[in-house]
Amino acid sequence: MKLYKEGFSKINRKGLFANKDIKNGTKIINYIGKIITKKQTDENPKFDNGKAIYLYNLNNRYDLDGDFKYNAARLINHSCNPNCEVRGKGLKLWISSIKDIKKGDELSYDYGFSFDKDFEDFPCKCRSKNCCGFIVREGSRWRIKKKKKTNK
Ligand SMILES: [Zn+2]
Repeated sequence: MKLYKEGFSKINRKGLFANKDIKNGTKIINYIGKIITKKQTDENPKFDNGKAIYLYNLNNRYDLDGDFKYNAARLINHSCNPNCEVRGKGLKLWISSIKDIKKGDELSYDYGFSFDKDFEDFPCKCRSKNCCGFIVREGSRWRIKKKKKTNK
């Protein structure tokens, strides 16, 4: 039985949900796509803004473009309080749980976007208690609070 299933998400239309109770540290789904060279990434305008949600750095030479229908893992939404993370080894990526997940809970991970001038173009609707309002990696979220304060 698969550990996940597609469903309607309040975060962003579609999402993936736990199909059964999942223990912390479980490999849930492979993150698959096309392995491309850094050169191909640089030359493809679709990756221009540096926030290609489905693009992953594999090593110095290769990226993985997961923007394909067959990659079900791409439906997993960002959350400020995620229950999964992306892990990798060699040229393989997968999604693992980072806490115990109950059957029916939506799967999520931190997209890891940097805080930059475009951060407001990526609002977050994860509804977690600690939601910072935007899709920005955990380590940079304090910058949003700081910005809000200086604007007052
Ligand atoms: Zn959020």
